[in-house]
Amino acid sequence: MSVIYWDNNATTPCAPEVVEAMEPYWNVKFANASSSHLAGRTAMIAIKKAREQVATLANCLPKEIVFTSGATESNNILFLGILLTPNLERKQIVVSAIEHKSILEPAKLLEKHGFDIVKLPVTPNGVVDLEQAQKLITSKSLLVSVQAANNEIGTIQPIKELCNFAHDAGAYFHTDAAQTLGKVPFDVDDINCDFASFSAHKMYGPKGVGALFIRGGAKRWPWEKPLNGGGQEMGIRPGTSNVPAIVGFGKACEIACSSNCNRYVEVLKHRELLEEEILNRFNGSLINANMEQRLPTVVSVTFSDIDADVLIDSLIGLFISNGAACSGSTLTQSHVLAELGVLAEEAKRTIRISIGAETSYDEIVSGLNLLSNACSEIKQCFKESNNA
Ligand code: PMP
Repeated sequence: MSVIYWDNNATTPCAPEVVEAMEPYWNVKFANASSSHLAGRTAMIAIKKAREQVATLANCLPKEIVFTSGATESNNILFLGILLTPNLERKQIVVSAIEHKSILEPAKLLEKHGFDIVKLPVTPNGVVDLEQAQKLITSKSLLVSVQAANNEIGTIQPIKELCNFAHDAGAYFHTDAAQTLGKVPFDVDDINCDFASFSAHKMYGPKGVGALFIRGGAKRWPWEKPLNGGGQEMGIRPGTSNVPAIVGFGKACEIACSSNCNRYVEVLKHRELLEEEILNRFNGSLINANMEQRLPTVVSVTFSDIDADVLIDSLIGLFISNGAACSGSTLTQSHVLAELGVLAEEAKRTIRISIGAETSYDEIVSGLNLLSNACSEIKQCFKESNNA
């Protein structure tokens, strides 16, 4: 049976060209990239190429890209570097209230160790409030970290302005671009950020690989290096290089670059159709953060009378989610929806649909029909059980 996969913000499939590019590095060109023999040098050349491919997409120098195991690790390296650095004059870290847990949890750890964590509030539309941000970013701030786009509601944040505020205050600026790189144009030079985190598996690359952009490269890394024990990745992320994954990430960036994010133009049209139809078909439903500056892939919908978990369980042949994949399995309410003012009871009726570059018009029509049928069946069931 063919299935419809609408959970692309959780992860995307690997593009066939990515799988093909990775293939020789499992068991033919498998050498350790740190080995000095020819086979090792072959693997190192493949990493060099991948570094150039990622750097081209992000518009930075190859030496400014450090490969990591993903955006979670990139974010943690940054925060742990600060935590381990003695005698810092500035001890204030500014983050948005709707960051991914891989920013919020390390921030909590810093707080436990005497740092002052300031959370930037967002408007009811899920965008950082710039007026508030300008007041809250001060000469005490060491680092400002705001995501480029939100994984649950898709809002694109005004990171260029926030980066300016940070720099005016003498602070560093980091952006978690896990949901952005490869989907919408993302240019570290234009933003002027000091650090950025990337993830391959959100953009048709493999899981378990990503990168940390460091302006000026590892030599300009201002803090302690939290991981030690090998010189790989310029000492910022030591450990034997995951050559197949790095090669795959490079290829995914090359594909994104060649399409110049045009592959998402159609996606936006499909998302708009999806939203229009959802509002037509499901009485009283609401699109969260319904504004223009949003990723073309994501729709967050709150139904008036359908429980999201029941809906997800009863959908056969359609995969959607009830929020971020990482918080979807826990029972805590989404902190992102809470920040928008969505009540806990409304959050239970909220689903996240994240379509992909390959989602077709026909798939949108079929997916909508599956959603409609499942909702009708759930309502019918409730009616019958109430009457019984
Ligand atoms: N940040 C954001 C905004 C994300 O959406 C995700 C993935 N859900 C991550 C960080 C973590 O990325 P990774 O899976 O590469 O560790």
